[in-house]
Amino acid sequence: MKKTIAIVGAGPAALMLAAELDASRYEVSIYERNQALGRKFLVAGDGGFNLTHSEVLESFVDRYTPANFVESSLRVFDNRALVDWLGRIGISTFVGTSGRVFPVVPTKPIEVLNAILTLLDAKGVKIFKQHTWKGWQGNALVFAAQEQEVLVQADLTVFALGGGSWAVTGSQGEWLTYFEEKNITTKALIPSNCAYGLDWPERLIDAIEGQALKNITLACAGIQKKGEVVLTRFGLEGGALYALSPQIRSELEQYGKATLTLDLKTALSLGEIQQRLQKNRGGKSWGLHVEQQLNLGAVAMALLRTLLNKEEFTQPSLLAQKIKAFPLMVVRFAPLDEAISTVGGIALEEVDDHFELKKMPNHYCIGEMLDWDAPTGGYLLQACFSMGYGLAKHLNGI
Ligand SMILES: Cc1cc2nc3c(=O)[nH]c(=O)nc-3n(C[C@H](O)[C@H](O)[C@H](O)COP(=O)(O)OP(=O)(O)OC[C@H]3O[C@@H](n4cnc5c(N)ncnc54)[C@H](O)[C@@H]3O)c2cc1C
Repeated sequence: MKKTIAIVGAGPAALMLAAELDASRYEVSIYERNQALGRKFLVAGDGGFNLTHSEVLESFVDRYTPANFVESSLRVFDNRALVDWLGRIGISTFVGTSGRVFPVVPTKPIEVLNAILTLLDAKGVKIFKQHTWKGWQGNALVFAAQEQEVLVQADLTVFALGGGSWAVTGSQGEWLTYFEEKNITTKALIPSNCAYGLDWPERLIDAIEGQALKNITLACAGIQKKGEVVLTRFGLEGGALYALSPQIRSELEQYGKATLTLDLKTALSLGEIQQRLQKNRGGKSWGLHVEQQLNLGAVAMALLRTLLNKEEFTQPSLLAQKIKAFPLMVVRFAPLDEAISTVGGIALEEVDDHFELKKMPNHYCIGEMLDWDAPTGGYLLQACFSMGYGLAKHLNGI
């Protein structure tokens, strides 16, 4: 007799799990609220589709918060294993200059998804679309399915419900309450890998909106990231900023604000900047002298002119210090729905090393619905795939 497994949700974590479960031992059914599977996976594909990152495993593992939460799954199924796995289902990849791993051009995201779904079809995985999980009735899972209620009894249940952003893709986070009713600790879903809001002075906005600050270093709570940010009416966005999400989030939660410091001229030391500023400026205005000596762009100059006081802007040593550590105050997260990912969900202490709920044996949670975090750039999808794969290997072995 095969055991039955109900997988709730059809994102990358769920699909990898279903693809790797031993079909001779398990009868696998996926229940998904949408008519289409993997909608967030396809949204991820709309931008740069970073399936994983090529970084070596030792530092790869450190990208996660808390560090090492998915380590055992990553050690079972790392970025190379994912690339090989994709290759076996006909999806070739390449490593971009950033180290991120993409499907080769012109592979479309839907082709990657369809390659996985073809595998599930061949394995006889049953798929129930338009089934929205609503909690439990006794031991049965309750689904709302086109105006009728469906009760499902399974030997094992795996939840892979995603986070709480981009609700249009099906990630709505309403399931937190169903777990709370079972006395399982959950944490509110909070945006990560998102834009952060600042209170720009109105007079600055026209000069900066939509402009990028390139080759800068951003720092928050002692952690530094190199890269670029785009300035918007709302505040800031961009990869270097997203990578500081854990630090910004922690400060916002603790103090209601987070201090970012920007090194606007990474190529020059503080001393070199001071020297250049102290050079004779001939008949030039101070602003033009600063701009030309340091080759600062218009956006950096607008920030310096508008946000520094007169003394800070005109005294070479003070200005040099501000250029190397320009303070900006983050005061709010982007709306949850606009974030690339969310943190919060099922508290990590509620699951064991194999993602099984300690208070509900035979029930597992994988993917973004657990309270971990990682920067975008392939780390999110890799973790979801690794958890799905790792759980399949575990279940195949018991
Ligand atoms: C704009 C954007 C770009 C991104 N780009 C990247 C990228 O380039 N690289 C990267 O690594 N990551 C990226 N991500 C993040 C990545 O897509 C997610 O981390 C990943 O999809 C999470 O996988 P998951 O399987 O945990 O959940 P999801 O993919 O969210 O899937 C969860 C599924 O569960 C279903 N579901 C939820 N509740 C219920 C319910 N009650 N009943 C039934 N079904 C339910 C949902 O409909 C959904 O299909 C991006 C995300 C966004 C929004």
